[in-house]
Amino acid sequence: MDNCIFCKIINGDIPSAVVFENDEFKAILDRFPSNEGHVLIMPKEHCANIFEMDPEKGGRLFALAVKIASAMKEALGFENMNVLQNNGPVAGQTVNHFHLHLIPRYENDSVNVSWPQMDLTDEQIEEVRKKIASIL
Ligand code: AMP
Ligand code: ZN
Repeated sequence: MDNCIFCKIINGDIPSAVVFENDEFKAILDRFPSNEGHVLIMPKEHCANIFEMDPEKGGRLFALAVKIASAMKEALGFENMNVLQNNGPVAGQTVNHFHLHLIPRYENDSVNVSWPQMDLTDEQIEEVRKKIASIL
């Protein structure tokens, strides 16, 4: 993709701090990290978001995330981490090339990952469950 910033990072046109790469994925330090050690893992082949991601490739990407998370924990000495992945502008995606955020969490840091909690009835939960389950 010509105007994709992460494609440019992947092909080397834009420099990045690479922590790992293989033929399929690249993992870099976020240039504007929310915390020290904030890593992004992305597929080398352009894919905008989770809805375009091949499920098998997504599995391999997550297996890699598990390994990188352990390496980060050992290297940086933290005990807590958020794993996040935004899809679409309403969900906060600003770069339209699939990427998984690995965000180390430190005591009293200023990262804020939270959402409201709706108080639904069992019937409302069941209605939503049926819609999704019927397609799977
Ligand atoms: P998202 O909002 O989930 O799309 O995340 C995009 C992430 O890309 C943000 O955390 C940015 O800080 C990060 N980012 C933007 N430009 C660069 C860059 N040139 N190198 C590394 N990370 C970047
Ligand atoms: Zn791209």
